[in-house]
Amino acid sequence: MRKNLFSIALGGLLAIAGAAEAQDYPTRPITLVVPFAAGGPTDTVARLIGQSMSKTLGQQVIVDNVAGAGGTLGPARVAKAAADGYTILLHHIGMATTAILYRKLPYNALTDFEYIGLVGDAPMTIVARKTLAANKLSELVDYVKQNKDKVTLANAGVGAASHLCGMLFQSAVGVPLTTVPYKGTGPAMNDLVGGQVDIMCDQTTGTTEQIKGGTIKAYAATTKKRVSSLPDLVTTAEAGMPQVQVAIWHGVYAPKGTPKPVLDKLINALQVAIKDDIVRQRFADLGIEIESSDRVNPQALQAQLKAEIDRWAPVIKAAGVYAD
Ligand code: ASP
Repeated sequence: MRKNLFSIALGGLLAIAGAAEAQDYPTRPITLVVPFAAGGPTDTVARLIGQSMSKTLGQQVIVDNVAGAGGTLGPARVAKAAADGYTILLHHIGMATTAILYRKLPYNALTDFEYIGLVGDAPMTIVARKTLAANKLSELVDYVKQNKDKVTLANAGVGAASHLCGMLFQSAVGVPLTTVPYKGTGPAMNDLVGGQVDIMCDQTTGTTEQIKGGTIKAYAATTKKRVSSLPDLVTTAEAGMPQVQVAIWHGVYAPKGTPKPVLDKLINALQVAIKDDIVRQRFADLGIEIESSDRVNPQALQAQLKAEIDRWAPVIKAAGVYAD
């Protein structure tokens, strides 16, 4: 009896302490996990959002690149982290595609996270090393067909955005290519600029400045409309490859069980970030379409993740690509 009373009292005290901690949140730096290498598109989005969120939260938001395995190591880290708001995740469409592609993941994308909100959409671009002898998409298709045994296609591992877009490209061309996986398209871009790999699909976040600087060749954007930051670049539909169309949406997540007062502060900080002039300007420069403010919330992110898993499952199953 005495023991029971003691444990009830202790439980009550711990709950009060937990609630107080949640009210005071944050009292120390927050780690924002990015599942790809530094210097790549997802890293760029995370650093911009993180800097703005840190102004609102009054604590540093430190980006931690937990890269590898097609962007599945980052979510695995966050799913296992303490649910206290000090470890959160920024991921993109890969949260949905890896849930379909991997037979076994150490987390469940739909049930192991709290949702914070959507961030924005980055178009993909089909690009190549600048010495490649093809100047438009139809010529690239001919080149790939003629050189199929030696053309290399860079990506950030199975399930990454570059992998998904590369799969769509290969199926449109009808030729499987040798893929070269990296821990992110940041390092892959270095090799593309250096001419060590031939072709890549990457977000405008990573390609806009390289295309403008003439360090790589660009063939098309995977969008319905032309990308505002690259108005001279044709769309895949204009270039005769309408089946290669994909937008890379981004979302912010926390471990399952993160207390509501903590989540509310994170949601508010993300909502402020997407209205931040610095973020908006940089997103515009890089061709990223910022999310409309009514979609920067848990409900919209949850619905998006579910809808995207349903949307890409048949496409990925038809392609017959799986990973263990
Ligand atoms: N966007 C990833 C990166 O930042 C790569 C990818 O998804 O393909 O490296």
